[in-house]
Amino acid sequence: MCGIIGYVGKNPVAPMLAKGLARLEYRGYDSCGFLTINNEFHHLKTVGKVSQIAGSVSEASLPGTIGMAHTRWATHGGVTETNAHPHFDCKNNIAVVHNGIISNYLELKKGLQARGHVFRSETDTEVFAHLLEENYDGNLENAVMASLRHIKGTYAFLAAAKNENKLVCARKESPVVLGISDHGVFIGSDVSSFLDFTNRAVYLDDGEMCVAENGTYRILDAKTGAEKIKSEFAVDWKPESIGKSGYPHFMLKEICEQPTTLKIAKGIYAEEVRMLARMVSEHDTVYLIATGTSMHAAMIAEYWFAEIAHKRVQAIDSSEFYQKGIINGSTLAIAITQSGETYDTLSAIRFAKERGARHASIVNVTGSTATRESEIAILQGSGFESAVCATKTFTSQLMILLRLALETAKAKGRDVSLLENEIEKLPAVAKEIIDNRENIRKIAESGFDVSNYIYIGRGLNVPTALEGALKMKEISYLHAEGMSAGFLKHGTISLIDKNTHTVAFIPRDDRKILSNIEEIRARGGKIIAIAAGGTTHADVVIDVPAVDDLVSPIPFTIASQLIAYYIAAKLGNDVDRPRSLAKSVTVE
Ligand code: GLU
Repeated sequence: MCGIIGYVGKNPVAPMLAKGLARLEYRGYDSCGFLTINNEFHHLKTVGKVSQIAGSVSEASLPGTIGMAHTRWATHGGVTETNAHPHFDCKNNIAVVHNGIISNYLELKKGLQARGHVFRSETDTEVFAHLLEENYDGNLENAVMASLRHIKGTYAFLAAAKNENKLVCARKESPVVLGISDHGVFIGSDVSSFLDFTNRAVYLDDGEMCVAENGTYRILDAKTGAEKIKSEFAVDWKPESIGKSGYPHFMLKEICEQPTTLKIAKGIYAEEVRMLARMVSEHDTVYLIATGTSMHAAMIAEYWFAEIAHKRVQAIDSSEFYQKGIINGSTLAIAITQSGETYDTLSAIRFAKERGARHASIVNVTGSTATRESEIAILQGSGFESAVCATKTFTSQLMILLRLALETAKAKGRDVSLLENEIEKLPAVAKEIIDNRENIRKIAESGFDVSNYIYIGRGLNVPTALEGALKMKEISYLHAEGMSAGFLKHGTISLIDKNTHTVAFIPRDDRKILSNIEEIRARGGKIIAIAAGGTTHADVVIDVPAVDDLVSPIPFTIASQLIAYYIAAKLGNDVDRPRSLAKSVTVE
């Protein structure tokens, strides 16, 4: 999953690559590399983040107006300078950066080595540089087309040849988007990579290539070489929306944006939500396909569809869909993916499509692959989310799914006006919790040195507990587990001691969880209750406004996001770029 940025134009390329690559660091950040062309190749690679070599990236060290850069999330080969991209052919005449996995690289490598090629790295990527070398006759795009015929797997490649003033790019199942400006063309993994320079974008689709030269571009079919015309669209995210706006971390900024993002998600795409609700009612089998945090949104929605619309839908982890799904013409598959590029989710949707299923998606990133491949795409309008840990995009997914459940209920003639009124309150509820965050900070920080966290909930707050634990693990690196309060006593309760804190979600009207809390207290465990009104028996209580139980996952989640954030910040962790993670998981 890694980030790629390239530029071909009139302006000095090095500072733009450095800025673009820093914007992409949420995608991977174990090592990075830069390459520019100015009659010669100039390159720089390092282990670590862009900020660690930003001082060395200058027009003097990397001259020219054509270049490319890469921030890596290693899949093949350790995190070393040699394995960082770009990778070169034997003679250092051709350079390549890559996002994805070349699944037949071992077989290709063996053949190339037998033909005398010398490899320097352990990556799968390097085979492509050597294939280009074999197929190069002075025209890079021809070499790319010929070499792609041998490649199996997934890729966004960006290639350069020393004696050609161009970049050639190709994609299959890894994202690529072009940024068009009056001084040149950008080629990036997503729009944030060039949003500081232009908001005009063109998406590349699977099986397409792009040749950028003389400040302009051509899109070609990668098999036939036939030229294609694609339309441009304007990205409505502002460059300032991708800055920290005075907050110490992107994550806190994004948590605090939730009153606004919930308000947007509450009203956005009304017609599409109604259309999708009609499709939900018309299909016997409805799957919500997602992974990671989005999977927790899907799991909460399962309860909403059952409770509110009396409709059975099933949440499935996208990487498990092949094994679990029953897919045919009466199946509706709804993908939930923030980036719209999540490899496992896109594959699951394609799998469903091939078997005749109808399909739709709930996505944050405009123009992303999921939006282009779905019959109906509902954009959640949360704006750019920079922190690796999803916060505002999760609660917006919930808002859209809740509206979808309500519309499905309405399509069946049910009166849901009370819940519709409850939804109206949610932005103000979010604001109240966020305004009270100083209190949450004090509570969280008092538990920063505890080694175990258990999150419990009942009913639709079981996934809220899973999500709370996931946030804690992702950024604090503390052991955290989420589960149903009833399940706790069937094993995990043996972990309870004074070094284990339990975060319990207590809704306004269902108080059954209070007896589970007593069981924990009896074993010396400390309880942090996140409670929507009423009394509790917890040691520490974080009060959130007393909303209807059905919408409680939204306020409960905001409070638990803040707990995880303050603990991780107190531990001095890199909250926005947690180790081993990347935001958009575009590999299998
Ligand atoms: N497979 C390549 C590597 O390990 C690229 C991984 C990525 O997409 O970040 O270097």
